[in-house]
Amino acid sequence: MIARFLDFLYPPICELCQKPLECGDSICSSCADLLPRISEPFCQNCGESFDGNLEDEFRCQNCLGLTHAFHFARASLKGTSMPFHLVHSLKYRRRFFLAQNLAELMEKTLEEDSRFREMGREAILVPVPLHWRRQQWRQGNQAYELSRQLSKLTGLPLSNALKRVRSTRTQTKLSRKQRLSNLRGAFRLKRGHLDRIRGAQVILVDDVFTTGATAHECTRILKHEGQASKVAILTLVRG
Ligand SMILES: [Zn+2]
Ligand SMILES: [Zn+2]
Repeated sequence: MIARFLDFLYPPICELCQKPLECGDSICSSCADLLPRISEPFCQNCGESFDGNLEDEFRCQNCLGLTHAFHFARASLKGTSMPFHLVHSLKYRRRFFLAQNLAELMEKTLEEDSRFREMGREAILVPVPLHWRRQQWRQGNQAYELSRQLSKLTGLPLSNALKRVRSTRTQTKLSRKQRLSNLRGAFRLKRGHLDRIRGAQVILVDDVFTTGATAHECTRILKHEGQASKVAILTLVRG
């Protein structure tokens, strides 16, 4: 009732082109069609897309010589301006209603990628946590909102197994190496979650994968403290 009343006051419009929308959506179908989805070929390690034809599986230049703790990382969208606009709205403008349409894109990625399908129905979704102070400031956590919607769509269980014990300075201008040392000791397994994670296959969920430092550090904790058997990464955007 309240939602209807609010729809009357603020008719829903597309987040990208501002055209009026049918109820239930936050992005219109023409904008959704324009979103740059990642399909093969992409890097088998980090999900970076490759423009062109490649028959074989490939690993990108960035990944040569790197050891990622996670099994693989996959993203649904390329890091162009439209996806980043959506991430920005979700993250800094508290437009959490976007999470439903965005999780639908991530669900497609889960269905399309045989490596996720092999993980089966038992896989657990774990969102990358924010430090409580940052979460309070933003009034929510974008990774949690995406995981929650994804869990609703897929039926996969969701576990807030990780916590961020240390707030870190902003990572945007740091190299991968600097990010890794910046993140050391920033995450812990939450008390009482060992039983859930031990031996489990985990899909770690975040909004953006950039250098993979956050994914790497969270995986280390899930494997060492949580004894997870396998950790794969799913993000909305490959930044
Ligand atoms: Zn639109
Ligand atoms: Zn790569």
